[in-house]
Amino acid sequence: MSIEVAELELRPVTEFRATAAAAAPLERDGDERTVMRARLIRADAALREGRTAEGGTLAQQVNAWALERGDAYVLACSHRTLTHFHYYIGDLAGALGNAVQAVAHLGDHDPAAVRVRHLMTLAVVLGESGSPGDAARRYREALDLAAAMGDHQQMLMILGNLANLATQEGDPATAARAVARMAEVHAASGIALDGPQLITMARVRLAAGDHAAVEEILRPLTQDPEFRHSTSAALPEAMLTLGEAHRLAGQFGAAQADLDAARRLARDRGLRATQAAMLEQQAVLYAAMDLHREAYDAHVAYHRYFAELQSAQRDAQARTLQAVFEATEARRVGEHFRELAHRDALTGLYNRRYADERLPALLGEAVAGGRPLAAAIVDLDHFKRINDTLSHDAGDLVLRQVGRLLTEAVADPAFAARLGGEEFLLALPGTGLGAAVRRCEELAARIRGHDWSPVTGTLPVTASIGVTVTADGQVTPAMLLSRADRHLYAAKHAGRDRVVGDAQ
Ligand code: GH3
Ligand code: MG
Ligand code: MG
Repeated sequence: MSIEVAELELRPVTEFRATAAAAAPLERDGDERTVMRARLIRADAALREGRTAEGGTLAQQVNAWALERGDAYVLACSHRTLTHFHYYIGDLAGALGNAVQAVAHLGDHDPAAVRVRHLMTLAVVLGESGSPGDAARRYREALDLAAAMGDHQQMLMILGNLANLATQEGDPATAARAVARMAEVHAASGIALDGPQLITMARVRLAAGDHAAVEEILRPLTQDPEFRHSTSAALPEAMLTLGEAHRLAGQFGAAQADLDAARRLARDRGLRATQAAMLEQQAVLYAAMDLHREAYDAHVAYHRYFAELQSAQRDAQARTLQAVFEATEARRVGEHFRELAHRDALTGLYNRRYADERLPALLGEAVAGGRPLAAAIVDLDHFKRINDTLSHDAGDLVLRQVGRLLTEAVADPAFAARLGGEEFLLALPGTGLGAAVRRCEELAARIRGHDWSPVTGTLPVTASIGVTVTADGQVTPAMLLSRADRHLYAAKHAGRDRVVGDAQ
């Protein structure tokens, strides 16, 4: 199962919906670690679909789990998802902190493909945080690793990002080299470039003065019906780039038509950042056409729109951050207290209240599933003697160690609880009478055979156990316990240190 989740973790981001769908059953039925990793995949999908608070909350949960377990790999992956969360809400400082952790917690034995992704994420955030040199270094490290693995998809992504960074930093030569290599990888691998990659390529050529190439490069995007119907920013951004190319080529009519198309698309899709970019382009186009009054008005409109956009984004960021952290905090505190209320302070075992709540549920599941449920009551023999001849503290120590032996004897969904004093309950779902008696005899042998001499000297510690199994759907938790208790009484009478079960 963990092989499956490892494979899903490496699927290309473009397939995030299908990946999340494939991860859903693992999150339902997997072991705890698989559940957490599958949940992280769901968090990633939620973030990509714009359900930012939900994605952030899920990632936060997985992160807390990994931290508590000291699970470095899951910690690294959850930090990467948290990087995306902080990035989407515009908190670059938070994104950078998480991106650094996402790389730092990876070990030498974790897959190189994972390291490539984490390095790339770190590089993107470094680039946006004003550290272009550090960013470029991470891009190159990631690129070398991806090339060594022959991961062409990832190479294209890294090269596209590297080209954007170089353009942003006013380094057209580096941008041109990156784009040329993208073309090589594309030609060698046959992997189609995605929308943002095509736009990157077109912009780099445009910056080099090659207006004529832009239309050709963007054609796969502008002609692709999928982009026509998607809600992404790719098509309107492509129209803006095309508009710029037409303007620089002096084809003002075509440029205006491109901008009009971009405006409609951006408005229909609710892409406010693209709408702002469109207004800016419009101002430049009017100026190129010597329409100075219109250029000035468009310029003012751009700045007003941009300011409104920024303040709306800041409000949304603050609300999302608050929602995510409040939810996490409340859950953590709630779980802590619920857990305390269910635990016995001396032994750390579950307490009677937990047993009273849990047993009816297990019984219901057993009846519904047509499976047996075994219940055993474990009572220490002559425990008063230990208290009386040694001390109450020695008695406490014995109870703690018995608690540990009981914990070792059960695994979820079975549980052990301290019912009170020196009396314990074992609940064993899915266990028939023969197996339950055997488990109890093993437990009795482990208690008897434990090295008690440091605590009790020569005094032995043994237990008597009464065990019973549900036979039909009529039994109640109280009936189950009283039957186990009767068998326990019989075990005491027969000489203690033994197991008595239902008569066969
Ligand atoms: P039996 O074999 O018949 O079960 O004999 P017993 O001495 O174990 O029987 P009984 O149930 O009469 O005594 C249980 C004793 O456990 C009485 C009580 O003082 C002691 N006890 C109950 N809770 C604690 C505790 O938390 N710590 C310690 N040290 N002793 C406890
Ligand atoms: Mg006793
Ligand atoms: Mg007792």
